[in-house]
Amino acid sequence: MTFSEFNFVAELQEGLDAMGFEKPTPIQEQAIPIIMEGRDLIATAQTGTGKTAAFILPVLNQISQSQKKGVKVLIIAPTRELAIQIDQQIQGLAYFLGISSIPIYGGGDGNTWEQQRKALELGAEIVVATPGRLIALLAGGKVKFDALENLILDEADRMLDMGFSDDILTIIQHLPKKRQTLLFSATMPPKIRKFSQQILHDPEQISIALGKTAKGVSQYVYHVYDGQKEALVNHILKSQDFQAVIIFCSTKDKVKSLFKTLKKQFQVEAFHADLDQSEREQIMSAFKNKSLKILVATDILSRGIDVEDIEMVVNFDTPNDPEDYVHRVGRTARAEKKGKAVTFVNEKDRYKYRNIQNLIGLEIEVVPNPEEIGPGPDLAAASSGKSYGKSAGGAKPKGKKNKFKSKPRSNPSTKPRENPESGEKKPSSVKSSDNKFRKRKNIKDG
Ligand code: AMP
Repeated sequence: MTFSEFNFVAELQEGLDAMGFEKPTPIQEQAIPIIMEGRDLIATAQTGTGKTAAFILPVLNQISQSQKKGVKVLIIAPTRELAIQIDQQIQGLAYFLGISSIPIYGGGDGNTWEQQRKALELGAEIVVATPGRLIALLAGGKVKFDALENLILDEADRMLDMGFSDDILTIIQHLPKKRQTLLFSATMPPKIRKFSQQILHDPEQISIALGKTAKGVSQYVYHVYDGQKEALVNHILKSQDFQAVIIFCSTKDKVKSLFKTLKKQFQVEAFHADLDQSEREQIMSAFKNKSLKILVATDILSRGIDVEDIEMVVNFDTPNDPEDYVHRVGRTARAEKKGKAVTFVNEKDRYKYRNIQNLIGLEIEVVPNPEEIGPGPDLAAASSGKSYGKSAGGAKPKGKKNKFKSKPRSNPSTKPRENPESGEKKPSSVKSSDNKFRKRKNIKDG
């Protein structure tokens, strides 16, 4: 299928050509016709699938033909990074349409607040907002949504996890009842279905296979003791001249500590919830333009952030939630590019690792530790979810040669150091969704 089959207005097709989008992704093929019919929609799709353009394109096509004045489209997203990114994609696709959009998010100084308020009052045609800041602006009473035609909720599951459901319902009270509503979510737990019943009207539903990581990602696992992790990440980073790497840690303290170690040898920055808005923007812009090559981050960066050509994602800590694995790994191999994802698994994380393999439906290849790091724990029994604890039939380390060869160091240390992880409080019996809720409350951004 090609984009021309959607019969978009010529200026939008020009935008697609300029962005280099040649053919629609599966979510775009499915979602665009439904949205163009004017139906409400619930779509299960992860980032990396092209979901942003799946809602932007038909909506741009629609409002390019609308005579109304004022805000016509409101997109609500969980974090400022995602809001900025959606706004940037709109600006790219809408370039030849002359449609204006503005991102509205928390943080920033008084000037930003004033600019956002003015743009809202003047009626930018598309507003991309985080819930908290939009509520604050609405409280001023001057912002009007009378001309609104489309409401889009992006990453709805994450917004509910972050405790935004009341804020979203409050915002909706300010919107016309007659509108088209689209809800995109990476997962579709019952609470999202219930929530969607409150705000959508007779929606169509589509789902792009959940839990599958992008095709172009080569995935590897190292079995390590905590005390080996820093040496191993050093080894991997030195093995190649990487241009874009994200290293995910489970807590901001760990991000800070790994950052401190790595910055002695590499040009690296740390990205976590303690940074203020301008620090975040500076880091993201350096990472995007490749003047910064290595980023150590918490999961605040794992969803929805679109940086071109990330070569490798390193899970310094195994993600707590299998879905977080998919999101982290989704930072690489975007839109059919190639990428690499490397996960460190220690003895405590074997259950999380098993759950990840079950969710993605793949057995991740185990790479033996480099000689200078020394052998890690034997986790073979846990490496295949389905046979864990039952028989010896589970996946064994395949003994493939080391993927990240580098010259041996002069002072090899083969003895793991004692450095127990501190941030892991979740017993494996706690349901992942409960844990996600606690964890994400800490990174409320809007
Ligand atoms: P998303 O899932 O919306 O975060 O999109 C992931 C990446 O795919 C972004 O960099 C988009 O610019 C890109 N993209 C979206 N749709 C297409 C397409 N049809 N062809 C090529 N790239 C695309």
